[in-house]
Amino acid sequence: VMAEEEEEEKERFELDGERAGAMVKEMRECFNRGNTKSYEWRVTQLKSISKMIDEKENDIIQALHNDLSKPQQEAFISEISMTKSSCKLALKELKHWMMPEKVKTSMATYPSSAEIVSEPLGVVLVISTWNYPFLLSLDPVIGAIAAGNAVVLKPSEIAPATSSVLAKLLEEYVDNTAIRVVEGAVAETSALLEQKWDKIFYTGSGRVGRIVMSAAAKHLTPVSLELGGKCPAVVDSDVNIEVAVRRIIAGKWACNCGQACIAPDYLITTKGFAPKLIESLRSELKVFFGEDTMESKDLSRIVNLHHFKRLSRLMDEDKVSDKIVLGGHRIENQLKIAPTIFLDVPEDSLIMEEEIFGPLLPIVTVENLEDSFAVINSRPKPLAAYLFTNNEGLKKDFVKNISSGGMVVNDTILQGNHWFNVKTWPDNIEVMGSSLGAITLCIMLKVTVSTLPFGGVGESGMGSYHGKFSFDAFSHKKAVLYRSFEGDSSTRYPPYTPQKLRLL
Ligand code: NAD
Repeated sequence: VMAEEEEEEKERFELDGERAGAMVKEMRECFNRGNTKSYEWRVTQLKSISKMIDEKENDIIQALHNDLSKPQQEAFISEISMTKSSCKLALKELKHWMMPEKVKTSMATYPSSAEIVSEPLGVVLVISTWNYPFLLSLDPVIGAIAAGNAVVLKPSEIAPATSSVLAKLLEEYVDNTAIRVVEGAVAETSALLEQKWDKIFYTGSGRVGRIVMSAAAKHLTPVSLELGGKCPAVVDSDVNIEVAVRRIIAGKWACNCGQACIAPDYLITTKGFAPKLIESLRSELKVFFGEDTMESKDLSRIVNLHHFKRLSRLMDEDKVSDKIVLGGHRIENQLKIAPTIFLDVPEDSLIMEEEIFGPLLPIVTVENLEDSFAVINSRPKPLAAYLFTNNEGLKKDFVKNISSGGMVVNDTILQGNHWFNVKTWPDNIEVMGSSLGAITLCIMLKVTVSTLPFGGVGESGMGSYHGKFSFDAFSHKKAVLYRSFEGDSSTRYPPYTPQKLRLL
C-alpha cells in the first residue's frame, strides 16, 4: 500500500511538458465554454475559498508552523485573515468591478457612446513563493477568479506543508475544471512555463523573474512580477523614538523573522543619532522577544538550511563580522538566527549588496539625513521605502526624490496589508496582553489600505495587485465604441480631395 501511495504521490507531482500541455488544453476548453465568466461562478468560488479558510484554519496554521515555525498569531494576522479579507472585499465589490465603465466620446465619433469593458484574460498561471506561502498563493488566485479566469496555482516547494495543504483543500472546495494546483519545483515550473498562458503572475526573486519573463515572451504573454530588493528605512532624530522603533521591529522581526519582501532591509540614520537608535532597538527587542531571543516563541525560524547558510555567509564575511552591535547568535540544527544589528558595514559588503531576507539589520550612518537619498538612489529601486520623521519638508523631499514600489512615512509594512475585518479576530487570541498584541490592534484599526496598489518598480517588479488592482491585473480593459448609422460624413472616405481636407 505504501508503495502504491508513493507512486500516486510521484504521479501527482510529476509534470512534464506533455502533461502540462494537456492540462492547459482542458482548461482552455473549459474557459471557452464560458462558465468562469459568469458573476455566479465567480461568487461561488470566492465563497468556497472563504468557507475553506474558516473550516480548515487549524490545518493551515499547522502547515505554516511546520514550514516556518510561524507563530500562530502571526499566521492568523498575515495569512489567514488577510486572505479572507481579500475574498470578502472581492465578494462585496465584484458587481461594481465588473460593471462596464462609461466614458465620454469625441466629436469625431458623434453620435456615439463608449465604455471600457473588463473581460477575463483566459487561462492564467500563478507561481508563488514560500515566505507567506498561503497568502501569496491565494491572494493572486482570488484576483484571477474575481476577474473570471481559469487559473493554475504553482505554490513554492520550499514551503512543502503549505503547498500540500493548498493542493488538498482547493481540490476539495473549488471547481477543479477551472481552478487547479500543481505542486512541484524547478522541473514542474519549467514544464508549466513552456505552455501558452494568457497571463503569468509570479512572486519571488528577480533571478527567476527573468526566467519567467523570457518564457512568457515566447508566447507574448503578459506578466506581473512581484519581486524583492533592499528596502531602506530612513530614521530622523526628530521622531517619537519608542513608536518608531516598535514599528521597525514589527516590520522586520515580527514579520516572519525578516523573511518578508517589504521588511526594512537596512536603516539609514545620522552618525549622531545612531547610538540612541541602537539603544532603543536593544531595549524594545527585549520587551518583544525576551532576554534570550533564541527562546522566543514569537519569532519564526529560517525556512531551510540553504537560507540559514546564505544568511550565515552574510554574517561571517570578514568585512562585517566585527560590526555586530546586537545579537549574532544562531543555532544551526534549529534553523534559528537572533535579531542581529550591524553598525557601519562597508558599502561593498555582501550584506549591503544582496537582499538580506532574514533577521540581520545593518545601520548605515550619514552626516546629514539628506545624504540618505544618494545612498538609496545608488541602488536598484526597492519594493518599499520607509521614512521616520516629524519634518514635513523631509517627507515631501523623500516622496519626490525616492523611487520605490511603495512607501510609508512613520510606519512599516502597512502598505502591504489588506482591509481588515475586526469580526474575524478569534476569541482565543489575547490582544492587549502583549506589546505585539497592541501593535496588531493598531494594525487592525488602521488597515483600510486595500485602495493602494501593491507592486514594484524597476528591479523590484512590474504590475501591481490587491483589492481592485488584483481584478485589473487579471482583466483586459476592452475599449468598446457604439456608433449609430447616423452622422456618416463623406470627408473621411476616398477619393481624397483638397476640399475634404479643409473640412477636417
Ligand atoms: P524563487 O524565485 O527562488 O522561487 C519562487 C518560485 O519560483 C517557486 O515557486 C519556485 O518553484 C520557482 N522557481 C525557482 N527556480 C526556478 C527556475 N529555475 N525555473 C522556474 N521556476 C523556478 O524566490 P523565493 O526564494 O521563493 O523568494 C524570495 C524572493 O521573493 C525575495 O527576493 C523576495 O523579496 C521576493 N518576494 C516578493 C514578494 C512580493 O510580493 N513582491 C513577496 C514575497 C517574496
